[in-house]
This record gives sequence, structure tokens and C-alpha cells, in this order.
Amino acid sequence: MTDHLYYHDSFLYEFDADVAEVTSVDSRPAIILDRTAFYPTSGGQVFDTGWIRPAGAEQKCRVTEVAERDGGAILHFLETAADIQQGSRIRGFIDIDRRRDHMQQHSGQHVLSAAFIQLFNMPTVSFHMGDDACSIDLDTKNLSAAQVEQAETLANDVIIQDRPVTIRFVTQEEAQGLGLRKLPPVERDKLRLIDIENFDLTACGGTHVASTGQIGSILLRKIEKVRQGWRVEFVCGKRAVTTARHDYNALTESGSLLSSHIWDVPQQIRKTQEESRAARKSREQLLEELAGFYAEHLLTETPEHQGRKIVIRIFPDRDLSFTKLLAQRLTRKSPNVIALLGATSGQAALVFAQSPGQPFDMGVLMKEALGKLGGRGGGSKDMAQGGPVQVEGLEDTLKQGADRLRS
Ligand SMILES: [Zn+2]
Repeated sequence: MTDHLYYHDSFLYEFDADVAEVTSVDSRPAIILDRTAFYPTSGGQVFDTGWIRPAGAEQKCRVTEVAERDGGAILHFLETAADIQQGSRIRGFIDIDRRRDHMQQHSGQHVLSAAFIQLFNMPTVSFHMGDDACSIDLDTKNLSAAQVEQAETLANDVIIQDRPVTIRFVTQEEAQGLGLRKLPPVERDKLRLIDIENFDLTACGGTHVASTGQIGSILLRKIEKVRQGWRVEFVCGKRAVTTARHDYNALTESGSLLSSHIWDVPQQIRKTQEESRAARKSREQLLEELAGFYAEHLLTETPEHQGRKIVIRIFPDRDLSFTKLLAQRLTRKSPNVIALLGATSGQAALVFAQSPGQPFDMGVLMKEALGKLGGRGGGSKDMAQGGPVQVEGLEDTLKQGADRLRS
């Protein structure tokens, strides 16, 4: 079993070790060491990356992933198969920026989970560390925005107080009386405890900061209901700054688009939404009025033939909804109207309608038209609509339809 150097010192960024095994998993080259400071994915914390340099070699070899194999051995996946022999010595280098970030997120999680317990007795049931944000799942039925803010404030107070964070090893028996926030599910002889002075004591195998001040800060973000309770997204340390910067840039752009201060953005959006609702309503009214006038105009200029008026019209600057409106106006105004209308603004549309009581079948007529133009559509005896694939020949198709009705 590999000696876990990171258990005792999270700040050990370089170390020497012997190669215990050279192997590969799914044709990815990997090595196992007798001791390592590389953290493998576990307990919600993701793996370290870094480099390995064989003794006497100039070139470093990139460690792309670290994972724990069944039985406890730790696999260091290498970017390329290197000339490394079993039994040889290597020097390992941890990617410090990535490790520091992970320490900030993971220690921040401990502080946050303890804050939710102390304030509201909401236990954390899982922890997830993502590339951009982290999250904890709280076992609770309800979680309010005010509670989120309170937990954030307490967590940041604990960070500012710069409390020491220490590592301790105890037996299961000793752990019983210590009031741990969380006991690990597996039975182990020795428990590794992370102790945030006078604030939180919990069993954990992760890499942690030496004092809470190193977490920097914690920013709580989205909350969402999940099956088990509530998920709280958060970012710590440098990620909090990066995220806040990103948010600020987005807000600044929104503010400038609305010509308002960023704090007035929600109010401006509300106002804009109201204006847009009012504009939509007024546009609908205008279109109805326009359809009314159009209908009158078309009925006046269309001659009667065998007691019927067949109106044929294609509107290059109107859409389906206006054409339908017009068809309704035309066929309801008089009892003897057949309207064969098309619109070619945006998605082309056809609307066929007849006054109630007229003997034709608009659904059948539409199918015939679409047989020529392609596309789908249909409808009832008095009203049908369709979306032709091609607009070329549209007018001829309508004229031919009218001829069929006249014959
Ligand atoms: Zn932990």
C-alpha cells in the first residue's frame, strides 16, 4: 500500500519516492509509488496533477490523473509512457496552483457545512468539487435565501478569524466521545480528523489549509431543490474572486445595455418587460384593426362569380397569424366568401377559409396545394392552414385552386 504523504502535510509539493510498479490501465501508462504526495480523487475532492522526474533524467513527465486502485494502491497516470523502471527513484512535483485551489474549496466546504449545522442543524450529505464551482447537498426540507446569507456570513467570519486547522489521528474508540460532525462510513483502525479550532471537527482524508484565513473567502451562489434536500453551490478563495469578476462583468454589460446602474438592472428589466408586454398588446390590436380594413377593401374589389367571392392574395410582408386573422375577418363578414391567402414573411404560410355554409372542403384543397408545393398542413372543412416548402409557384397554385372552385 502506498504511503500517503498528503495525510500528514498538505503543503508537501515535492517529494522523492521509489517506483513500486509500472503498469497501464486501458492502455494509459501509469506508475505506483511506495509513497506519494499526489492526492487521488476521493471524498468529493478531485485528484492532483503535476510532474514526475526519474532520477538522473532531465525531462519531467506530466501526471494527468491520480486514482486509488482497489486495495489502496495509488495510480499516477502519465501523459506519455516514460522510460521508468520498477525499483527506480523518482522526484514528484505537485501542481501547486491546483492543489491550493483544492485546499481552499475543501476547507471552505468544512467551514460551510459546520456553519449550516450550527445555525440551522442542517447536515451535509454530500460534497462535489467541480471545475468551476463546488456544491454541498443539505439534508433539509426548506432552505431560504436569508439562511443562505446567514451561513455565508458565519463562514466568512470564521475565515477572517484565521483559526488554526490541524490534522489528528485517533482510533474509532477515541473518536466516539469527540462529537465529530461526520464519521466515515467505512470501519478503519485509525481515523484522520480535520480540526478547525473551536468550530469544526470531522473525519476526512482530504488536503486542507493550515488556517482558515488561507481559504480567503467563500461566496454562496445558486441553491436548488434536489431529491435528498437542497443543493448549495459555492466558490472559495481565488475562485470566489474569479466568479465575482465574471458576475460583475455580466452585470456591467447588462447595466450598460439598459443605460442604468448595475443595482437598478432588475428594476429596469421589469420596466422593459412591462413595456414589451404593452407593445405586444397594442400590436395585436393594430393587426386586428388592419385585418378588418383589409377585409373590407378586399371584399369591395373582388367581383362576385356565381354568387361567391373568391379572394386570392399573397402577402410578402405578413406572417401566418395575420393571414389567419384576415381569413377569419373575410369569411365572417359575408356568407359567400372563400379566401385563399398566403404569407411569405419568414416561414411561408397558407391559409384557406370559407364562410360557414359554403360547400367546399378547405382541408382537401390545402392537401392538393401542398401536394404541389411540398410541406405539411391540414384543417377542417371551413378553415385550413399549411407551411409550404417552396414559395415558387405559390400564386399559380392559389389561382389553380380558385379555378377548381369556380368550375
Ligand atoms: Zn473533507
